[in-house]
Amino acid sequence: MTRRASTLVIGGGIIGASVAWHLAKRGLRDVVILDAASGPGAGSTGRATGGFRAQFSTSVNVRLSLLARAKLARFADEVGADPRARSVGYLFLAHDVAAMAAFRAARAVQHAEGLLEARELTVDEAAGVNPHVSLDGVVGAAWCPTDGTLRPLEILRGYLTDAIRLGVRVTWGERVRAFDRGADGRIISVHTDHETWAVDHVVNATGPWAARVAALAGFTLPVHAARRQIAVTAPLRTLTDDFPMTIWTRDAFHLRVRDGRALLNWPIDSDSDGDELSVDPSWVDSVWAKARARVPELASSRLDEGAHWAGFYEMSPDKTVILGATPGSPNLVLANGSSGHGVMHSPILGELVAEQILDGRIRTIDARPLRPERFAERDLNPVSDLL
Ligand SMILES: Cc1cc2nc3c(=O)[nH]c(=O)nc-3n(C[C@H](O)[C@H](O)[C@H](O)COP(=O)(O)OP(=O)(O)OC[C@H]3O[C@@H](n4cnc5c(N)ncnc54)[C@H](O)[C@@H]3O)c2cc1C
Repeated sequence: MTRRASTLVIGGGIIGASVAWHLAKRGLRDVVILDAASGPGAGSTGRATGGFRAQFSTSVNVRLSLLARAKLARFADEVGADPRARSVGYLFLAHDVAAMAAFRAARAVQHAEGLLEARELTVDEAAGVNPHVSLDGVVGAAWCPTDGTLRPLEILRGYLTDAIRLGVRVTWGERVRAFDRGADGRIISVHTDHETWAVDHVVNATGPWAARVAALAGFTLPVHAARRQIAVTAPLRTLTDDFPMTIWTRDAFHLRVRDGRALLNWPIDSDSDGDELSVDPSWVDSVWAKARARVPELASSRLDEGAHWAGFYEMSPDKTVILGATPGSPNLVLANGSSGHGVMHSPILGELVAEQILDGRIRTIDARPLRPERFAERDLNPVSDLL
């Protein structure tokens, strides 16, 4: 039997949940989420550490963050859950004048977008903001006190719970396997192992697996999975959750404190097939050595070996989300390739996808830098290695 959905959202992670909630909130009926996992949070959303920042180097990413931040401030009222946002700040440390110049260029973009609280710090000022870190070799810093942290799974649960209340149907354990397309390229139906769905619109919200799903419909989507590992300390005596997210831009090592434990992140980008989720013991040794050298108070603590985890970033070639209708299939809408920023941007990405589906175009921002066509047109957004 063929079932019917007005919009079928593939993937019930934080982005798919936000899309479904925004569609239902605007009154669309018969919105359905299908997810291959057995329950919520099994994808990247459940692996995120929960950082939030507006300090980016491109206008469009700063704007996405500011719009998302405004929506997070209203989240409890509008969605009925507490995203547990904390403004602990993001502190980017520079080790040379080139990095300081890159911070200044990015700050000009941030200020032009209205992020006026982002500012440059001297080494002494950085020590005042985070007295716990060694600033050996640091020449200055970029700081934004309104950046901070949030709880990815609280946001996901909030969207899913309220979406269901608004009439969205969510089915776990249903993997999308195939699509039927019409002569005009539009998706007509979607097949899982057990069901066939006739659809008006389909949203690809499958995070690091988005390219696989696009390929099932005959499209190439430039999103790849990059494994990221997190090492976790045992509960700490002196460092608290107020510790700012601190990033040594020289090698991208960064850490924050969550629930009284330090989360250590030193990204070594390795492309992945999107299946391998082990944590490499030699990486743990290296990241732990870095952490103790840079945060002297960690020298007297220990790692919690059972608590480390790995997950996948969903990388796009210019580290910017790919948002809009698929070229060649106008009813297949993409919300992919957030490149490690999908949690923080999820509130606004859901709103923009709802506009694409219900209004036929994205209205809230100039979405040209996000358009899927930019890769074929070789018109990518500038990429910064620092922020
Ligand atoms: C270690 C780590 C730290 C991170 N830290 C941050 C951070 O601090 N801040 C931030 O903003 N972001 C962070 N991220 C990135 C963030 O987790 C992602 O950007 C975000 O979760 C993407 O959400 P999503 O809904 O697109 O994907 P996911 O949460 O991965 O959801 C995709 C869903 O699609 C489903 N699916 C896949 N294939 C199919 C199929 N064929 N049929 C049906 N369902 C399918 C999966 O089961 C999954 O549930 C981090 C990621 C990692 C790994």
